[in-house]
Amino acid sequence: APGALYPDRANSSGVEFGDRRALAALVAGMGKAVAQVDAVPLAPGVTASSPSRDVVSPHDPSQIVGTVRVATSADVDTAVATARKGFAAWSRTPAMARGAMLEKAADLLEADRDRFLSLLSREAGKTIDDGLSEIREAVDFLRYYAARGREMFSEMVPMPGPTGEDNRLGWRGRGVFACISPWNFPLAIFLGQVSAALAAGNAVIAKPAEQTPLVAHEAIRLLHAAGVPADVLICLPGEGDVGAALTRHPRIAGVAFTGSTETARAINRTLAAKDGPIVPLIAETGGLNAMIVDATALSEQVADDVVMSAFRSAGQRCSALRLLFLQDEVADQMLKMIEGAARELVLGDPALVSTDIGPVIDQAQRTMLAEHVEAMRATQTVRYQGEAPSAGLFFAPTIVELKDAASLQKEIFGPVLHVVRWKAKELDKVLEAIDATGFGLTLGVHTRIEAHVRKVVDRLDAGNVYVNRNIIGAVVGTQPFGGSGLSGTGFKAGGPHYLMRFAQEQVVSVNT
Ligand code: GLU
Repeated sequence: APGALYPDRANSSGVEFGDRRALAALVAGMGKAVAQVDAVPLAPGVTASSPSRDVVSPHDPSQIVGTVRVATSADVDTAVATARKGFAAWSRTPAMARGAMLEKAADLLEADRDRFLSLLSREAGKTIDDGLSEIREAVDFLRYYAARGREMFSEMVPMPGPTGEDNRLGWRGRGVFACISPWNFPLAIFLGQVSAALAAGNAVIAKPAEQTPLVAHEAIRLLHAAGVPADVLICLPGEGDVGAALTRHPRIAGVAFTGSTETARAINRTLAAKDGPIVPLIAETGGLNAMIVDATALSEQVADDVVMSAFRSAGQRCSALRLLFLQDEVADQMLKMIEGAARELVLGDPALVSTDIGPVIDQAQRTMLAEHVEAMRATQTVRYQGEAPSAGLFFAPTIVELKDAASLQKEIFGPVLHVVRWKAKELDKVLEAIDATGFGLTLGVHTRIEAHVRKVVDRLDAGNVYVNRNIIGAVVGTQPFGGSGLSGTGFKAGGPHYLMRFAQEQVVSVNT
């Protein structure tokens, strides 16, 4: 029953981690899961004879997880024309019926949990823990946007007005939405964007990340099986040129994008330059996320929360901790504990229950991380680097002590934690340094001093502030997620306003 394991939360797709027996059964189920996915066309124009590409596992790149028929920019026109036809009927489909299909897809996803868990592990290198949370989050998104969609789109709201006139305000879809999503949450973010756009009455062309088209393909199949028509939801797996052609297309009515700040800027420029309607961009980008620890913090808790925030998911979350500010007086002791806890982490096969950290997504990411740490070695202090398994695309958790925060100029997407010391009475300087990054996604504070919490919340624009806890794993409907500045446009995913930018308002005034 929904909420059986997490009575305070909206879904039932979790397995309790203390429950070893349930976990063992689940892992056995994963073994039986599909060996290979052949992702043939969920888009007009992409056929069984389209060029295909093997998708390999980051844990063992010699293992082929499946093949995908890829779209090219030439397929975009047909896809948009088809989706425009789909939109005409979908926008007239009652919000109740649209919501019911999203709910149905959530049910199907819960029923197919083990297969998705297997695919997440093999295609994206997700640990069991991360895979379960991701499936739970995807289910939450489906149910949450279904509910919000019903609230917002079912009936027009009467507005006050003079006698003899009936004024009503309503919401409706915009048209064909492009949803461009990243590899780090190939199911949750992918389905989050898509289900929001659908709930708001749009047709969708989804372009999943190059690295993770198979999970996306399976997710689209669920939505089709739940009743969303094939011309309302089209999947265009491909390279960056497909995304670029989509955003350039004159009939795209909006773009939802999660990925790098640089790509969000490029999309923004494309949208601004083209003729046709002015369309919104919903962007959720990176972060140079900080945690401030003062001398009143509980060190055991800090150690646990830092390791979780910086290294879980191999640091491949945009919410992950990048810059840790430790007050001088306690810095050495805290670092000792953090390094000790990091030393205990088990890197390895993501499909094993004993594994804490899986591989990074691909060779390009691993090379970027190695080059970054080498560059840091020249001018800063690399305090700790764990050991990575020799086979597979692993990168070991690394801790770099910086001379100052300005020594780190960009988001490093992986398990590298940067530490800066600060002096008592100089909290203001820490806040200035964080502000100077220009990002504003997640922020952590560990303190028992109420005034420190207030000051941090007042002064900084971070979208999600976490006090005396870790800074990852925002829960749909509880911690709406997203930032400002270089970190994105809002509205927050999993929050009550997210659907608004996917929709447009209409007022009807009738002389009665
Ligand atoms: N919502 C996720 C979290 O709170 C992060 C999403 C992302 O990495 O894009 O950890």
